[in-house]
Amino acid sequence: MSMRTRWREDGCATGLAGFRRVVIKIGSALLVDQKDGLREDWLNALADDVAMLTARRTGVLIVSSGAIALGRSVLGLKGKLKLEESQAAASVGQIALARAWSQALSRHGIVAGQVLVTPADTEERRRYLNARSTLSTLLKMGAVPVINENDTIATTEIRYGDNDRLAARVAAMASADCLVLLSDIDGLYTAPPASGREAHHIPLVRAITPEIEGMAGEAGSGLSRGGMITKIAAGRIALASGIAMAIASGRDINPLRRLDEGGRATWFQPTLDPTTARKRWIAGTLSPMGMLQVDEGAEAALKAGKSLLPVGVKKLHGAFSRGDAVIVQAMDGRELARGLVAFDSADAARILGCNSTGIADILGYGGRTEMIHRDDLVLATKFEGE
Ligand code: GLU
Repeated sequence: MSMRTRWREDGCATGLAGFRRVVIKIGSALLVDQKDGLREDWLNALADDVAMLTARRTGVLIVSSGAIALGRSVLGLKGKLKLEESQAAASVGQIALARAWSQALSRHGIVAGQVLVTPADTEERRRYLNARSTLSTLLKMGAVPVINENDTIATTEIRYGDNDRLAARVAAMASADCLVLLSDIDGLYTAPPASGREAHHIPLVRAITPEIEGMAGEAGSGLSRGGMITKIAAGRIALASGIAMAIASGRDINPLRRLDEGGRATWFQPTLDPTTARKRWIAGTLSPMGMLQVDEGAEAALKAGKSLLPVGVKKLHGAFSRGDAVIVQAMDGRELARGLVAFDSADAARILGCNSTGIADILGYGGRTEMIHRDDLVLATKFEGE
């Protein structure tokens, strides 16, 4: 679907139908009531919305907060919690949260898969490739990943702490083209609505300017961590990754259906598409950590849009880790492509020139057969021309 069909003339999205893969982030305050615990009716209605999307073949990933909030409610914890108490609450709450999602989605025959991530999983490239392939495998199997931060043992320094930014990273990692942040507010205002100042709703953001940043206030509710600041930080990640983002209210039931019908929200509209953004990131942003020299057969395969297989790689230079960017060169030194390499340099050296079938025997583990998967590869002709 072309970018154009997604957007109305005023710049806002026509709904969710124009997107292929959508990440939905749900704030704690929507799912968990401080007094009554899990809001089951709300969750069931949201599962109806998800089923509406999956029925039209939109890939859906859910980033669900609520582990700490639900754990507090199950354990009857009151007041401000110490770090270890919130982590214990997250542990109790996450198991309940996963069950709630799994039950709500199963009413539509949808299978849920729990994925708990840390910032390192989305930022360190070796782990990034693993998390990315787990998510895409779940989606291929028709399952809906239900994702949260792994809150139980992470320490403050290695936590996101808010699921807004985490959801934006997940969206980039999963090659989604849309991110919906459902919270208790229907978008960005010129001033925080609680501030008492005159505040106007902003329907469309095309770039995160200092003015936009100035409009963010602090977190609005006792249960959630994120406020407008983390939502705008998420918007920055989304726009840089070519992902459209909406901040919409989830207070009433069926918020996705409403958004799909053109309901009120703040839309962040990217100027790039996700594929171009990812290719620029691979070819332009990352510093190459090594080089692979390939034969003519591999060169022809690359030009035909195929993955780079170990059999065509004749030499390698540099010390690199799985997920690092590397340069792919012809034997005569011409740069052919750049990509994220699937093996570290030690393992790559052991399988140079090997047929795909022999790889598992040599390395002692199986699974991957490409040196660089075609989705992680950018041909030099593509980036030199830009
Ligand atoms: N990961 C936290 C939880 O599930 C929530 C973080 C947030 O509110 O953004 O409780």
